[in-house]
Amino acid sequence: MSTRASTRRKRALADSDEEVIVDDIHYRTTQNAQLVARFAGSLASRAQAARAQPQPDPKRARRSRSPSVVFIGIRRVAPAPFNDGAADLVIKTAAETEFMVYRSILAAASPVLANRIATAAERAAAEAPQAAPGSRLQIDLPESDFVLETLLRFIYPIPDPVLPDLDDIADVYDAAANRYSVACAVSALKTALASPRFLDVEPVRIYALAKRFGIDDLASIATRATLRQPAEWADYEEFQNMSAQDYHALLSTHRRIARDAVACLSSDAVLRTAATALFRGAPYRGKCPEDQQCWFTKFKECGQKVLLETPTSDRVCSPGFVAQLATEVQCERCRDVFLRSLLPGSYVEKLKAAIDALPAKYGL
Ligand SMILES: [Zn+2]
Repeated sequence: MSTRASTRRKRALADSDEEVIVDDIHYRTTQNAQLVARFAGSLASRAQAARAQPQPDPKRARRSRSPSVVFIGIRRVAPAPFNDGAADLVIKTAAETEFMVYRSILAAASPVLANRIATAAERAAAEAPQAAPGSRLQIDLPESDFVLETLLRFIYPIPDPVLPDLDDIADVYDAAANRYSVACAVSALKTALASPRFLDVEPVRIYALAKRFGIDDLASIATRATLRQPAEWADYEEFQNMSAQDYHALLSTHRRIARDAVACLSSDAVLRTAATALFRGAPYRGKCPEDQQCWFTKFKECGQKVLLETPTSDRVCSPGFVAQLATEVQCERCRDVFLRSLLPGSYVEKLKAAIDALPAKYGL
């Protein structure tokens, strides 16, 4: 099961628990919310067990009914700081949770919300002209509790929320950028999407999201990050929102850069400029059967395999990779040259510069 599917299931479970909640239970903190959810869950299972019983005669049922607890409705109030009784606006979510917030803070952060608030105020004034101008308004937004709360946490002058899940970031970004124009949230979420915790692990998902939301600079950064992984990607859910053209562009860029990186191994520009540092002053120990080329034959053969999969300089130009290959070369003369290739201004440094310049060639 994908992460997204599990998140959805968690939310679906939470939603089903919301069905039975005792009137007058207002939860104000996360801990309280969890207690209420547990309580509501046990009530829900009791109600389910009761429903499974054969239906009794309605008259008898009325007589035997316990008068002690009567469930008459649901009122869900958001956690702090969105439960302020003095607030002048109530936002009701799709789950009918009430977020009590201040109009001025929301209106400053989102032109869309500013517009909704103004319309609601006009309507309220028309319906009840005698009401005080600052009296509490209500607007309904078809958002999940999670999306609205996260958006409000970006808008309010409190620390920004940290979202560990890429699906959640995508949901909130969609709302912030495409439905409510909340610039502060858009900017913070873009930074989160470009952070190494996502980019290093799932660059293809970031690329797909960048394309879906039209964030060109993030798409370029993500394309570069995909070069550190083989182009054998899982069937990510994000591909459903990506065009075949974008998928093809990513794949072909990966392949072209891989082909160019392999060409860099034996390019004149790299080899010729590195030759002085490679051979000058190298002690002649033993004879080379390949005219001092066996080090290069080995490097090319092994480097090519790595670069075709992951066309970056990260591995092929690492001292560990070069030193390991050097130990596998029989020719003593070439082992010296191999190790000299790691010196400043020598082959490895030139090769690294050439490979690192490739993404720019493709506009990345
Ligand atoms: Zn040799």
